[in-house]
Amino acid sequence: MNLLEGKVAIITGATRGIGKGILETFVANGAKVAFTYASSAEVAKAIEKEFEGVKGYQSDAGDFDAAQELVNQVLEDFGQIDIVINNAGITKDNLLMRMSHEDWQKVIQVNLDSAFNLTKAVLRPMLKQRKGSIINMSSIVGITGNAGQANYAASKAGLIGFSKSVAQELGSRNIRCNVVAPGFIETEMTAKLDEKVVDEWRNSIPLKRGGTPEDIANACLFLGSDLSSYVTGQVISVDGGMHM
Ligand code: NAP
Repeated sequence: MNLLEGKVAIITGATRGIGKGILETFVANGAKVAFTYASSAEVAKAIEKEFEGVKGYQSDAGDFDAAQELVNQVLEDFGQIDIVINNAGITKDNLLMRMSHEDWQKVIQVNLDSAFNLTKAVLRPMLKQRKGSIINMSSIVGITGNAGQANYAASKAGLIGFSKSVAQELGSRNIRCNVVAPGFIETEMTAKLDEKVVDEWRNSIPLKRGGTPEDIANACLFLGSDLSSYVTGQVISVDGGMHM
């Protein structure tokens, strides 16, 4: 399928895991992709080589000025920006009793400020084009909360309120903003976990398996493409039925 033919997407944090899965699906559907990373420069180079029409940018998602510079550079390189996926995210888990102020701030900065930074930066070009799709990567934990993840859950819940507000402010300009809330997605990170623990997780999910980056990428494909041209302000949970 070529659902994204003629479109340019920015995907943050696409050197591995979910971001890389989205990149692969977007390229397979005809999109040109600008992606970012924090430090994996070598991996980014390999991705540029592997896929056509793809360029990597080292850009800290939590840095306001860096987002502006990124958008200017992508506009120079690609000429337009149709889709933005704020995917980059980190965890610094701890019980509240033990959570440092620094770990609170860092998670909010990378996971939540990042969406503000890049949305602000793409606003002007998208307003000019009178179209755009912004997709923010939340988590099921942003809906339910989770012990030991107060900072992460707050950042992911914040993305939902932010996205619904953006959808209301910019709908009249044909700029859509939606949220994807993944459940338990099996990536390189989860491959390191104890198999017994992972099996217990799988069994507690109605669809009896962990999700794949491709499962998340397909939701992003829908939201990034014109198939979803009448969908905005929504949270799509992609979690095998974990949370209903
Ligand atoms: P991941 O494997 O840890 O990959 C994170 C990506 O983000 C990497 O490309 C990393 O780049 C980049 N990154 C980290 N900090 C950054 C920063 N400050 N600026 C720019 N890029 C940065 O993550 P993932 O598991 O695929 O998760 C992706 C998103 O989905 C996150 O927002 C996460 O919260 C959300 N999510 C994941 C799950 C899950 O089960 N995996 C579930 C729910 C939600 P480097 O390689 O350079 O470090």
